[in-house]
Amino acid sequence: MYQVTQLIAGRWGTGDSNDELVVRDPVDGSPVSTTPVATPTEVSRAVAAAREAAPGWAAVVPAERAAALHRAADALAAATEEIARAQTAEMGKPLTGARDGIAAGIGTLRQYAELGPLRGGRTLLGGADAIDFQTPLPRGVVGVLTPWNDPVAVACGLLGAALVTGNVVVHKPSERTPATGWLLVRAFHEVLPPGVLSLVTGGAEVGAALAAQDLDVVAHVGSTATGRAIAAACARTGAKAVLENGGNDALIVDAGVDPEWAAEQAAVGSFANSGQICVSVERLYVHEQVAEPFVEALVRQAAALRVGDGRDPDTNLGPLVDRRLRDQVREQVDAAVSAGARLRHGGQVPEGPGAFYPPTVLTGCTDEMAVMRQETFGPVAPVMTVASFDEALERAADSAYGLAGTVLTPSMRHAQRAWRELPVGTVKINAVFGGAPGGAAQPRRGSGQGFGYGPELLDELTTTKVVHIGAPGGSSTGW
Ligand code: NAD
Repeated sequence: MYQVTQLIAGRWGTGDSNDELVVRDPVDGSPVSTTPVATPTEVSRAVAAAREAAPGWAAVVPAERAAALHRAADALAAATEEIARAQTAEMGKPLTGARDGIAAGIGTLRQYAELGPLRGGRTLLGGADAIDFQTPLPRGVVGVLTPWNDPVAVACGLLGAALVTGNVVVHKPSERTPATGWLLVRAFHEVLPPGVLSLVTGGAEVGAALAAQDLDVVAHVGSTATGRAIAAACARTGAKAVLENGGNDALIVDAGVDPEWAAEQAAVGSFANSGQICVSVERLYVHEQVAEPFVEALVRQAAALRVGDGRDPDTNLGPLVDRRLRDQVREQVDAAVSAGARLRHGGQVPEGPGAFYPPTVLTGCTDEMAVMRQETFGPVAPVMTVASFDEALERAADSAYGLAGTVLTPSMRHAQRAWRELPVGTVKINAVFGGAPGGAAQPRRGSGQGFGYGPELLDELTTTKVVHIGAPGGSSTGW
């Protein structure tokens, strides 16, 4: 059992509040971690200490900040097994997936450590005896609010980018994976001066208290509803909001594709991490020419997946993070079935402890169903059969979200149309996951704003100052 502590003004402690959160293992309900709930005063104190530490960290030369990031990556590598086990215990992800997420986080830290010191601005020669330069500078204090579904990789991106560009950070990890967040911050803390990184813990109310503080940036990865609340808080304080939020990604399966291969893509896209990925496949539009063999193959693949404890190496799908999420997933599936969808596989909550939910395939889905319109965040593949690629594209584009989408097609013309016409940040052609390291896109509509990843995140977290230098006694510009 982990006892999580907070890091405020460079000191670890459980804080003043008597309130605490207990996270339970979604496999059997046993307690995993106990976490203090930060009081509003503690949140303010963390931000004040960060504000005090900001000028010192901003003055550290970029190469030294980068070296600190490399050391944080080393510390994280050394703690991989401990953090992976904490994560699996808190949110159920199979251990291999948890280790992969940490490896991705380490890779991102090293990438930012290399890119940070290379950043520069532009120079302009406006006159014979003058020069202007534009230089990137830290924004100041960044509040970092992160989700539970890939907690280490996501936090490493935001923390790494903020720290290497000379910002100080007050971090609040998800209340569903607090021990994972705490162990991560412990690895960073070993290599950073006091006050540069603070950790406050607790639930949504602590996140809201942090977002209401005098911050320069609030960087949030999480649900759309939270992103909207943070955008409103930032409008009040003047802080910049960087928001990477929920998605309702479409998968289009075009005529002429191999249905077995398309079903493999769909199964990975819909079921990996038990559907708890921001860019999971959330709705499927399948051309009528391939619909039936595709659905049969998808059902076979769903049936072959082993659902179980993430610590068992044979497990493909762990439980959902908790029963609260399972209830939401079940409600959407049950409502779809009541409205006429056909359950082709799964859909039944198993007896016994934990928050398990089987990989589920629905056909005959319609646009009105919540399972098609909202982010389900569970291992559910709702299929709608369409008569043409045009119809698929039109339905895929009709969404309140704009995160990503995938098209499986043998037609180059359809591929070209898809990437141009889908109103989302990321379009994937013939591969449901993947992408080069360092890739980044701007989510649209309900999925957020700004670059939350890649080199562009370094730009989001810096401001640019322009300096004009003239010669003493140089030419006058007027009068
Ligand atoms: P969440 O928004 O509920 O929580 C994320 C963080 O925000 C937590 O620390 C939480 O305590 C805090 N928070 C909650 N309410 C708040 C408020 N009113 N003000 C300030 N902070 C608040 O999200 P979650 O349930 O942890 O994560 C799942 C969601 O994250 C899904 O929608 C998923 O698609 C999304 N996600 C998006 C990406 C992406 O890159 N677009 C990546 C991973 C997850």
